[in-house]
Amino acid sequence: MPTRDLTQTAVRPSEATITCRGERFRRYLPADDIQERVEEMGRQISRAYADTVPILISVLNGAFMFTADLMRAIDTSCEVDFIKLSSYGDEKVSSGQVHELKSVDANLKGRDVVVVEDIVDTGLSMQFMLERLSAHDPASLRVATLLHKPEASEPDLTLDYVGFEIPDLFVIGYGLDYGQLARNVPDIYILDS
Ligand code: 5GP
Repeated sequence: MPTRDLTQTAVRPSEATITCRGERFRRYLPADDIQERVEEMGRQISRAYADTVPILISVLNGAFMFTADLMRAIDTSCEVDFIKLSSYGDEKVSSGQVHELKSVDANLKGRDVVVVEDIVDTGLSMQFMLERLSAHDPASLRVATLLHKPEASEPDLTLDYVGFEIPDLFVIGYGLDYGQLARNVPDIYILDS
């Protein structure tokens, strides 16, 4: 079967390999495995915040899909708000420059805050965000990330809830894009190096 090219066709493939913007990717985390892990994370967060109403701060755009599934897997009351940082643009490597494009609307003072991120790569964005959010004086501040690249990441960063640790390779799908494409692919694909 030919490798489907997302740049050419708008599809929701579940093939072993796909291409996107001329690069070849192989399926790495099937949708069912992602859902199973997200549900476990939801149960863990529900237990940890049983006596309070946490506010999830979802990091746009990549974390929107993870946030929606994680929230549905949390069976105690919780709220959501959104933050947006500058990111990779249309590239596969980080510029190392982070700035805030959209700040949170909610008042976070005294709140239990959980940052919900799609992926922690170098950790620069997360460090920047935690500094920003700390300034709001929350009662607690934790991080839930679906993916973590430990080989690339700042060693000092504390990640409270991690879905999957992955190699230091570019991934797409389940909210994660390459030049804005592939966010709607239900599985996560990794660069086929
Ligand atoms: P960091 O600051 O940790 O290096 O990168 C954070 C942001 O870069 C993530 O929120 C995500 O938007 C983007 N990013 C990092 N690694 C990847 C990757 O492998 N694939 C995609 N699509 N985005 C990534």
